Amino acid sequence: MQDVIRLLPDAIANQIAAGEVVQRPASVVKELLENSIDAQAKNIQVIIRDAGRTLIQIIDDGGGMSETDARMSFERHATSKIRHADDLFRIRTMGFRGEALASIAAVAQIEMRTRRPSDEIGILLRMEGSELKSQESVACLPGTNILVKNLFFNVPARRNFLKTNSVEMRHILDEFQRVALAHPEISFSLYHNDTEVYNLYSGKLSRRIVDMFGKNYREQLIQCQEETPYVTVKGFVGKPDFARKTRGEQFFFVNDRYVKHNYLHHAVLAAYEATISEGSHPFYVLMLDIDPSHIDINIHPTKTEIKFDDERSVYALLMAAIRKAISINHLSHSIDFEA
Ligand code: ADP
Ligand code: MG
Repeated sequence: MQDVIRLLPDAIANQIAAGEVVQRPASVVKELLENSIDAQAKNIQVIIRDAGRTLIQIIDDGGGMSETDARMSFERHATSKIRHADDLFRIRTMGFRGEALASIAAVAQIEMRTRRPSDEIGILLRMEGSELKSQESVACLPGTNILVKNLFFNVPARRNFLKTNSVEMRHILDEFQRVALAHPEISFSLYHNDTEVYNLYSGKLSRRIVDMFGKNYREQLIQCQEETPYVTVKGFVGKPDFARKTRGEQFFFVNDRYVKHNYLHHAVLAAYEATISEGSHPFYVLMLDIDPSHIDINIHPTKTEIKFDDERSVYALLMAAIRKAISINHLSHSIDFEA
């Protein structure tokens, strides 16, 4: 009998991996935004057409890439962010798995222009279904400008699985909001079908919240800040009366990364206690800062789940921070909204 096991060709392996990383247009938006942030961009522009089905374009003014790096960036497990296994316990960047661009390129048509500030000329790469279609020098601004066209053009099953444009756009807005909240020091804009959805200037977190959610939030925010040697918490929670019946405006960030965490959500609810009615959800944007060696973010490819080595002390600190903030708010407070 012959042996039957074969290594899959890269294009197929990438397409399989893409199933985990790229579920819908919003996943592409998230991954590209994270790359721009890791590239130290100060301005990030997002251009969407047809809820991301036909076009997702992200333009940043970050560090850009050399010609060789630009080509390498589409290889699977190719990353500039970690080198050794130990580095996994020191991660401060959004990315580190080296999978996003390879996965996106496996299921879309890509045009990437990139230039390092120190280079005189940039490079334009065209990719399609993991294949390099063309490569040329191009005059462009420093930074990276990437167009992802016709997502899932070669995966009809995935394309058919997409929901209506308004649902897909909602997912994109969610990802955009999470990243924009985590980085008030960066200016962001978002256009959908040539209409401006957001134009956010850099400034303080309080201002970002108001610019994004509305002026009426100004009166509703309570500042929070508390720290222990293990973890620091900073951010804003909504006044108890501002709690809503629907969920959706609850945001935890750990080292600038949006995460979902039911146990910590519970800590917030516990802090509000009887000040909110059963079943209503307070607004919050809470930033936790912790030494990366105490967390594990590598649980799922999308990195929205996280483990702490001492979850209970995070719970206790959060609860204490919010309780204190709510009780001080009863006395008096004022928040500076200027940049
Ligand atoms: P990861 O972010 O996990 O490293 P990606 O596939 O998202 O993997 O990106 C691969 C590499 O390409 C990154 O490590 C980075 O060096 C480079 N890169 C991607 N996007 C950008 C960008 N917008 N600006 C500069 N470099 C980028
Ligand atoms: Mg990345």
